[in-house]
Amino acid sequence: MSHLYCLLVLGFLISLCVNGAQSSIDAGTARARLFRELISRAGVYNTFPPSASELLCDQECHPLSQPPRVGIIGAGAAGLYSALMLQSLDVDFEILEADGRAGGRIYTHYFDPEVSKKATPQEAAYYNYFDVGAMRIPVMPYMDRVIGSQNWSVVSYVNSHVREPADTIDLIPYIFATNNTFQLYNNISVHSGVNASAATFRVLTSEGGDIPPSDFADGNPDTIYNDAISELIVALEQNFDAGFNKLMEFDQVSVRAYFLQKGFTNAQINWLETIEEGTLSFDKASLAQAVIEQWIFTAAPLDSWVTINGGFERLIKGLLKVLRTQPKLYNRVTAIKPGRADSLTVVVNHTFEHSYDHVINTIPLGATRVLDTSALSDLHYNTTMAWRALAYDDAGKIGMWFKTRWWEDPDVLSMPFVGGQSSTDLPIRRCVYPSYGLEVNGAPGTMIASYTWSQDAARLAAFYRSATQEEFITHVVLEDMARLHNISVSFLQDQLIDTYLWDWYNHPYSDGAYALFAPAQFSDVLPALLRPSCKGRLHTAGEATSSGHAWVVGALNSAYRAVMEVLAVEGRKDLMEKMVNLWGSLDEVDLGWFESPSP
Ligand SMILES: Cc1cc2nc3c(=O)[nH]c(=O)nc-3n(C[C@H](O)[C@H](O)[C@H](O)COP(=O)(O)OP(=O)(O)OC[C@H]3O[C@@H](n4cnc5c(N)ncnc54)[C@H](O)[C@@H]3O)c2cc1C
Repeated sequence: MSHLYCLLVLGFLISLCVNGAQSSIDAGTARARLFRELISRAGVYNTFPPSASELLCDQECHPLSQPPRVGIIGAGAAGLYSALMLQSLDVDFEILEADGRAGGRIYTHYFDPEVSKKATPQEAAYYNYFDVGAMRIPVMPYMDRVIGSQNWSVVSYVNSHVREPADTIDLIPYIFATNNTFQLYNNISVHSGVNASAATFRVLTSEGGDIPPSDFADGNPDTIYNDAISELIVALEQNFDAGFNKLMEFDQVSVRAYFLQKGFTNAQINWLETIEEGTLSFDKASLAQAVIEQWIFTAAPLDSWVTINGGFERLIKGLLKVLRTQPKLYNRVTAIKPGRADSLTVVVNHTFEHSYDHVINTIPLGATRVLDTSALSDLHYNTTMAWRALAYDDAGKIGMWFKTRWWEDPDVLSMPFVGGQSSTDLPIRRCVYPSYGLEVNGAPGTMIASYTWSQDAARLAAFYRSATQEEFITHVVLEDMARLHNISVSFLQDQLIDTYLWDWYNHPYSDGAYALFAPAQFSDVLPALLRPSCKGRLHTAGEATSSGHAWVVGALNSAYRAVMEVLAVEGRKDLMEKMVNLWGSLDEVDLGWFESPSP
């Protein structure tokens, strides 16, 4: 990522901050302001919370002075954090989880789980894993709800509430980039430290490619990409409202359409996409999505990211330790229907019925789509349309366990390295090397041999369906790795102990990797998702419904909003205040019905 790009995006943020000064939005919460603006302009909460006369509640309901009973669907980050907040408010809850484990898209694969479980951080076996889902977090105020030092940051909270030191969550540096990793495109390899262009990789028309010799051909793709969106950034710098309108105008177009409007050819756009994103993502993503996504990647210096020592799943384990009520595993919710009075009935495994005053649904929208909600009469068409239509990206990872960390070994690579990632146009697309176990003698040679998005991920996933196909694709991955690192396939075959392949669209409880807003979806689809249904008793949370979509912080923010919605409908101002005292404020919920107190 170029420095110029960092500066541009920083400028974008500062502009939001400066122009948003009237509403005290600082740069760290610029993304939340955009989100709030969208929701307010759509009027989603205009009639929220419902008035007492709209609520049918009679003597059959719990008295309003008593805390309600809340059913939480899904035990991922959003579900568990909702539960933690409710627990702190003495509100009764139950968590229903379809899978045999909690964590959802926070998922660490331990190649030898029994041995890893018993190991301590000083022992090599502790590091025999890779993170299949979330794996890294940039250090910036926006991420404080996950990794900040405040009491309400989830990591700090867990660390100050678990009894055993072994259950604490240890944040360690995540090495995003190092110079000696590789870039391999069009079969030409250079180290990542090289400032490479289309010409470097010989994809010009004179060489059988499709890019004519030009300034573009000699330019760094990161710089070109960033220059192309500067118009939007300048508009935001000059005036937030005008800039916001412009951003929304560009929300209607895909990244490709925007670049075409700016005079780029399809060949040039394809080249930029090859370097920047997954194949076809420029067709799928809105420009607004691209700008917002890149902001997080560049708002914090690349050398200040962190990961969780021992795997991201330790965050989930910590949350489970501090929750007094554990999720009910293998409880797949199959339907939600009206219950007695204003309550809701949740059906598990087509059989068992549970009744709640409120339901917080945190499951991804693909999984939500297959719930039977036909009996809920006041579910708006816009809401169910949003469940169907909101675009999710695909993502997949192939983890490999080798006998040694050969990439760190000068006897194997002339310029070895520690951590970072390599990239290529080969099917594996990206290798990620571990940032953990670095000081530990004999730490296992685990790495992410392939990290793919969009069509690249979907194509690899076709091979995950049988042992024979997995064996085939594993061989292809080793061949790609050998070319990328300029080593022999037989060396890698001899090194390989085990492989684990995972695609997030291929799993019924995720049905996609994370929200990736397609053209017009920020403006037209997102707002309908947030609207509480069933007289304010059915609340939608989960990463897709927050300003931090595709991040753990998004899941936590959405949980905060959903819990506040419950309290608002119940008219429990006392608990709302307690919530702010215990869990801080969150400006993305300043939506008319609730205003965060000034810091
Ligand atoms: C490949 C990948 C990489 C990522 N990298 C990062 C990263 O580096 N940093 C970062 O911050 N974020 C990252 N994320 C995003 C982050 O993992 C998610 O935003 C977050 O974990 C989502 O949490 P959630 O609670 O919203 O959803 P989930 O974690 O999906 O939780 C939903 C839960 O609902 C359950 N469920 C589904 N259907 C039902 C049903 N019918 N009944 C009951 N339960 C059901 C599921 O089993 C699951 O446990 C990544 C995600 C992916 C996929």
